[in-house]
Amino acid sequence: MKNQLTRRNFIQTAAAGSAALTWLGGRSGPNVFAADADKPAVLGGKPAHTGGWPKWPEWRQEWEAQVLDVLRSGKWSRAGGGGPVPEFEAAWAKFLGVKRALATSSGTTALITSLHVVGVDAGDEVIVSPFTFNAAYNVILNQRALPVFSDTDPATLTMDPASIESRITERTKAILPVHIYGMPCDMDPINAIAKKHKLAVVEDACQANMAEYKGRKCGTLGDLGCFSFQNSKHMPAGEGGAVTGMSDDLLDRCHSYHNCGRAVGTFKGHGSFTRGTNYRMQHFQAAMLLQRFDCLQKETQIRRDNSSYLNAGLAKIPGIAPARLPENSSGVYYLFPFLYDAQQFNGLPRAKFTRAMGAEGIPCGAGYGEQYNDGIIDEAINSTGYKRLWSADRLKTYRESFNELKGTKQACETVVCFSHSLLMADRSAMDDILTAIRKIHAHSAELAKKA
Ligand SMILES: *Cc1c(COP(=O)(O)O)cnc(C)c1O
Repeated sequence: MKNQLTRRNFIQTAAAGSAALTWLGGRSGPNVFAADADKPAVLGGKPAHTGGWPKWPEWRQEWEAQVLDVLRSGKWSRAGGGGPVPEFEAAWAKFLGVKRALATSSGTTALITSLHVVGVDAGDEVIVSPFTFNAAYNVILNQRALPVFSDTDPATLTMDPASIESRITERTKAILPVHIYGMPCDMDPINAIAKKHKLAVVEDACQANMAEYKGRKCGTLGDLGCFSFQNSKHMPAGEGGAVTGMSDDLLDRCHSYHNCGRAVGTFKGHGSFTRGTNYRMQHFQAAMLLQRFDCLQKETQIRRDNSSYLNAGLAKIPGIAPARLPENSSGVYYLFPFLYDAQQFNGLPRAKFTRAMGAEGIPCGAGYGEQYNDGIIDEAINSTGYKRLWSADRLKTYRESFNELKGTKQACETVVCFSHSLLMADRSAMDDILTAIRKIHAHSAELAKKA
């Protein structure tokens, strides 16, 4: 865990490297290489990249009016109806090509709402990808259910569908695939298994706004899809989230649950209430989001172009492999990952590689660690509640099963990634990234010996 960057650390590291560049303001002038430019910066060479990176998030003056309108209206909550929140819900659904969307206070609360509505209850089990941000399994724990981990495909970094069926028990209620880094999971086999075993599919698309799988957007492929509009994500509003789906019944139930259990649409609950909570989005958040569709589309295109360019260049460097996507799909890269093989860098440990990249002016870090060992799950399964819900035997074999997860350790040990804000820079900056890796590769023997 020590050398692994948490999301917040990562963003801070990336932000520290980003000077006053605006999101489209690239570096100017041609690449001028000094005589020792081919030497890594940690060995006294000139850094491959100077001039920083685009900041994230950016804001625009023309957005101020809409936010001020909300402020001056005195109507800051969606309670009572109308206003930017329902307007955003309609726009988000249309944008994704899905029937309904419900805005929530965060991606986490979107996931909790979805799990509740598909019937994940105390004592149930949910199959989830282990290579992920901890929210993906924290939300399962929140339902007092058990996050049962799939294997990871170390080439795509997503859930290995072939591992799902062996994890199904009579308590399994749902599958929670995570489109990690905005790279789509292979949803066809996942949905087929869910159908066969009558399980719900809740997609974690919190990093995957506009990612596509076989012509359809991530978050519209399962029963319910969950999005995040947290500050670091591709469509930021500080905090915020959404649930999307094709079923009016499910979305009515989601709306009820997130709005203190008040009856909505055809869903009457019991009398006019059902169990519920308050996960409502504020109008301020929706007013921001309504203005961001344009940006999201333009920025996604830039990230797509630059990531394709980088992936093509990375594939040519020995010891580096781009992460693979399922056929006919496109990633949007919340973080941009690649796979690092230390052996082909003369045994240069990944931590030294990322430090050398930092010295080149390219902030990057390890991806996710084996987070199921981070204590969160141990805390849960040792609680009185969990001990009431499962036999000591089941909890013991459950905990031991983490040691048999395939592909996950490999993914955790080989991924190097950097913030999407780097992908927003111009093409010459992408060349700088490739140059830096090539320099480090060429001098890896020397770097490996250096303390
Ligand atoms: C960000 C994120 C979440 C949670 O979203 P918040 O809006 O921060 O609550 C869930 N899952 C993944 C994979 C995420 O990256």
